[in-house]
Amino acid sequence: MFADLHLHTIFSDGTYTPEALTAEAQRCGLAAVALTDHDTMEGCPRMAAACQVAGIEFIPASELTAELNGNEIHLLGYFLDIENQKLQAALARFQEVRRRRIQEMAARLNQLDVPLRAEAVFALANCGAPGRPHVARALVQGGFCGSLDEAFERFLKVGKPAWVPKFKISAADAIELIHQAGGLAAMAHPGLNRSDEIIPALARAGMDALECFHTKHSTAMTEHYLQLAEAHQLLVTGGSDCHGLSKGKPLIGTVKVPYELVTRLRDRALAQAVERGFKIATASALPTETPTAD
Ligand code: AMP
Ligand code: FE
Ligand code: FE
Ligand code: ZN
Repeated sequence: MFADLHLHTIFSDGTYTPEALTAEAQRCGLAAVALTDHDTMEGCPRMAAACQVAGIEFIPASELTAELNGNEIHLLGYFLDIENQKLQAALARFQEVRRRRIQEMAARLNQLDVPLRAEAVFALANCGAPGRPHVARALVQGGFCGSLDEAFERFLKVGKPAWVPKFKISAADAIELIHQAGGLAAMAHPGLNRSDEIIPALARAGMDALECFHTKHSTAMTEHYLQLAEAHQLLVTGGSDCHGLSKGKPLIGTVKVPYELVTRLRDRALAQAVERGFKIATASALPTETPTAD
């Protein structure tokens, strides 16, 4: 039994609907999945409903944009109570500042004589967590760029003329937010950050787990992070970080973790929630929506 604990849908910058992603999870034979859209949980009710029908365990989650010592880091929150008020308020704030960032990127493009309208990006993204990938798609759709790569290279990469820094919450605030919503906090893809020195600080701040298994981690990197997790008494997580197709194939399920790790994470979340007097989210406690066709 295996789980993929890092997945995105159309509710952030992924291309699968929750229903299509669940169908892929079933095809891969996954026992459990976590939906980790960037700074939102909007897709969780639909994914929970689809997983319930498919007989797959669903873990409500999100990948929060955070910052420590000037490094952008992504903190995965697992077993989050979607109805938690502070979490809802924080996610609403993320959506608001993400929209403002898109407007600012559009304004910069307009100054460069690229008449892209923010509304075109919002219409294309059609979700609460629009980001640079949506701007890139809108630039291609509008005929302003020939490819997504071109859009990033000419305009959107860090330091390019339409790049606008992203709003981040402090890592300590993100960990606290996750905990008070009954969840566990894990640093996503540490191998992409290449700033291992922040891991002890995150562990001291109460971080619970480290994403050792990830699509962009080599075998040596995975080994390295498994050792770091052990040294700092962090639980282990992992997943494909599927945003859709990669080289023509679905990425979901290509990186998976033994189901045993899910049990350990859930046990820890339950124990901590009881200890701290917080409510933990289970799939059955999550309000579900009627599954819809793609
Ligand atoms: P954002 O969170 O809005 O700053 O956008 C970051 C996302 O943009 C990343 O997760 C990638 O999926 C995507 N991205 C970043 N750089 C590039 C690039 N050079 N080409 C294509 N996609 C990129
Ligand atoms: Fe992404
Ligand atoms: Fe990430
Ligand atoms: Zn991700």
